[in-house]
Amino acid sequence: MKISRRSFLKLTGVAFGTATLASFGFSDNAEAAGVPVQYAKEVTTICPYCSVGCGIICYVQNNKVVGAEGDPDHPINEGSLCSKGSSVFNLSYIYNQQGEVVENPKRLKKVLYRAKRATDWQEVDWDWAIAEIAKRIKETRDSTFERVDENGVTVNRTRAIAHLGSATCTNEENYLYQKMIRALGIINIDHCARL
Ligand code: SF4
Repeated sequence: MKISRRSFLKLTGVAFGTATLASFGFSDNAEAAGVPVQYAKEVTTICPYCSVGCGIICYVQNNKVVGAEGDPDHPINEGSLCSKGSSVFNLSYIYNQQGEVVENPKRLKKVLYRAKRATDWQEVDWDWAIAEIAKRIKETRDSTFERVDENGVTVNRTRAIAHLGSATCTNEENYLYQKMIRALGIINIDHCARL
């Protein structure tokens, strides 16, 4: 590809501007928000949103995350985060108008269930939800399990269940999900970060 001097300057200008915004404008810096983090414990983690895997530092005080920002020592993002990663703190906490850290009221803490053909969601307890999920997985798997395919090749699979991973799971959780899903013979596996 031939790039003129003018388009090269334009491209590098855009790239520099984007990197600067990511580094300064969108970083969720707790100190900048007026939260005293000088005594907070720094815990490093990985952004849960996409497969780029940017490094994040979480500031933890009294078992609460009071801030989060890009990890400058991380080789992938070198301290910058995109707008999605910068909002990771808000999954659990937000700043109120006084600048205090409070639990995000939109955080879902109860299981919501929408029955087949129903239009409304209803609150159910965890025991019921987990038992119901296990029951449905077993019924579906048992009734659709294929030991061999049409050519007599051993496949031990079900094509009736699909699994979609969540980008808010940790690597360790995803590892365990993979173990469980593949042990069940599920072969339709995908992840929201890839879609
Ligand atoms: S969502 Fe943004 S910050 Fe998070 S890993 Fe992807 S690019 Fe990095």
